[in-house]
Amino acid sequence: MALSIEQLKTAVRGELIQPTDAAYDAARKVYNGMIDKRPKLIVRCVDVADVMAALRYGRENGMLTAVRGGGHNGAGLGTCDGGLVIDLSRMKGVHVDPAAGTVRVAAGCVWGDVDHATHAFGMATPSGFISSTGVAGLTLGGGIGYLTRRYGLTIDNLLSVDMVLADGRFVTANAKENQDLFWAVRGGGGNFGVVTSFQFRLHPVSTVQFGPTFWPLEQAADVLKSYRKFILTASEEVNGFFAFLVVPPAPMFPESLHMKTVCAIVWCGTEPAEETEKATRPMRSVGKPLLDAVGPAPFPAVQSTFDGLFVPGLQWYWRADNFTELSDTAIAKHVEHGSKLPTMLSTMHLYPVNGAAQRVGRNDTAYSFREALFAEVIVGIDPDPANAGKITDWCKNYYDALHPYSAGGAYVNFMMDEGQERVQASFRDNYERLAAIKKKYDPTNFFRVNQNIKPGA
Ligand SMILES: Cc1cc2nc3c(=O)[nH]c(=O)nc-3n(C[C@H](O)[C@H](O)[C@H](O)COP(=O)(O)OP(=O)(O)OC[C@H]3O[C@@H](n4cnc5c(N)ncnc54)[C@H](O)[C@@H]3O)c2cc1C
Repeated sequence: MALSIEQLKTAVRGELIQPTDAAYDAARKVYNGMIDKRPKLIVRCVDVADVMAALRYGRENGMLTAVRGGGHNGAGLGTCDGGLVIDLSRMKGVHVDPAAGTVRVAAGCVWGDVDHATHAFGMATPSGFISSTGVAGLTLGGGIGYLTRRYGLTIDNLLSVDMVLADGRFVTANAKENQDLFWAVRGGGGNFGVVTSFQFRLHPVSTVQFGPTFWPLEQAADVLKSYRKFILTASEEVNGFFAFLVVPPAPMFPESLHMKTVCAIVWCGTEPAEETEKATRPMRSVGKPLLDAVGPAPFPAVQSTFDGLFVPGLQWYWRADNFTELSDTAIAKHVEHGSKLPTMLSTMHLYPVNGAAQRVGRNDTAYSFREALFAEVIVGIDPDPANAGKITDWCKNYYDALHPYSAGGAYVNFMMDEGQERVQASFRDNYERLAAIKKKYDPTNFFRVNQNIKPGA
């Protein structure tokens, strides 16, 4: 007989939250304010035993089941309508092994939790650009951030995972055990089971050289033309992502720039100041910058710089693509659409994904686009739901204009719910192998609230 809700209540130490509970409305919210889903049951797990019980309940009662880590997924894939949410956000815990240079992270952590713990030992592992993003979702999709060019994607530093599979088994996957599963979770998302803990390799990263260079929009085409060349040979210790942005009215920026749309490169160098200065100078000397403010900062502060701007609950619509090159025509289209940011928080980022990330083969992990030079993300953001249409239209138009010049697929973590073709285009020749592994570990497609890989024939 299927596990009943009463049996589930006695089986878990965490919370069960249902639509009639006072905590329900807060518990069902995810990061993206555009997502308004109403699950039937949210289980806030505190340990692996809770995950096993919740998963068993979902399976035996035939419930659509979503898994939630940090809740940051743009498409809202950490929740669902009418089903079960296995919410891992209370599963915290970061254990640093300084001698081994590794860190073990529980699945409910966000990157700020990890940075805080590893910084005390003068170390870090590659993650993203914002500290409030979930470790779980970001890692399972790949992980692009400030340390990508130097130390690779987050998955290139993943050593091992513990998981609960669809049939309830608990397994470890790493280079020696369940190697097929380990290959698949490095980019294949939450398709294969609930990961309950991650182990990462650490690197000596402590104080970094951080800050932006801003240029006026009139110089954007020249800046992009120089940037596409610069990034090909730039020292790997340097990361600099290109952006169109509106300068926020924050005291750290001169008032004359407040609310001005500019193009920018946001720098992060991991070597001492003189070396970063030398490595970035050729690019920072292009044209006439409006502001050039690179200086030392502790890595956790860098990771949380944008947290106060991009708070939970904003309307959020994004589209993405990978690019192996930026033609003059693509640059002209970037300038055209990037100059028309519809709201203060809307932005376009071009993240460089070369350097160490390109030294891993396209079939070595599920993440396929190893030859890409840039991961582009176009994001419409605003606090006001009345502007949802405006930011979405701008984002789609920008995306449509650039897509013909792309490599054809995207980083899955920057996608909305865009359908099966788009998922396949993003995994390319890795898709078939992923589908075979899916069939082995999740033949009924129990884990389908994700960028879904269908079990192979
Ligand atoms: C403000 C913001 C900044 C971002 N910055 C970056 C960035 O710098 N670099 C980058 O690479 N990405 C970035 N992202 C994208 C981010 O990687 C994805 O949104 C990712 O899905 C978030 O993971 P999460 O755990 O927070 O999300 P959730 O919504 O909780 O989950 C996302 C997906 O992962 C699955 N999942 C979550 N936890 C588990 C688990 N333990 N086991 C199995 N499946 C699981 C879910 O089922 C769902 O399909 C950013 C997103 C936002 C909103």
